[in-house]
Amino acid sequence: MKRLEERIDAEGRVLGEDILKVDSFLNHQVDPELMQAMGDEFAHYFADMGITKVLTVESSGIAPALMASLSLGVPMVFARKHKSLTLTDNLYTATVYSFTKQTENTISISKSFLSADDKVLIIDDFLANGQAVNGLLDICEAAGAAVGGVGVVIEKRFQRGHQFIVDRHIPLLALASIASFDNGHVVFSHEKEQ
Ligand code: 5GP
Repeated sequence: MKRLEERIDAEGRVLGEDILKVDSFLNHQVDPELMQAMGDEFAHYFADMGITKVLTVESSGIAPALMASLSLGVPMVFARKHKSLTLTDNLYTATVYSFTKQTENTISISKSFLSADDKVLIIDDFLANGQAVNGLLDICEAAGAAVGGVGVVIEKRFQRGHQFIVDRHIPLLALASIASFDNGHVVFSHEKEQ
């Protein structure tokens, strides 16, 4: 998505080897018009998949997921993050290692909001090693819900997440695909191949 790439070029900051900071429009301040345009892209791409629910993880996935769900006309559910969890009776849970915080979180979704009747679109802000998506896939499996696809705002192709999803034959749409960081600059990948 050209508009997104331009924003990344203009406002993104590369931190260390493998982190992109985009706090001015995605991860702290949020640009609602851009979110809406991205939600429409996701909805258009997955329009024929029979999606009944959009799933994400709090907090940075919520904005793009909400816009995708609005455009698809289905509810959005976000998994909550906890450090540890004792009462799990009415919850589907999964363990997720956080790439940016380097901590382990339990994520959970109430059994009331996901069932075997659902076909899910998973949305997240970044795809790095695929841990967050994997946690949501585990939860979908536990609920018996089908997964129609994964949409991410930004994927870093040099990490494992992209291949992880492709290997599972799950349709994947990344609105911006980063091939590498080169001396603090972002190099985009325009390969159509998944
Ligand atoms: P994964 O679970 O795919 O390893 O990492 C994805 C999660 O880590 C995303 O939900 C996102 O919050 C965070 N993340 C991964 N890489 C980056 C990055 O380069 N920048 C930012 N801001 N967050 C990232």
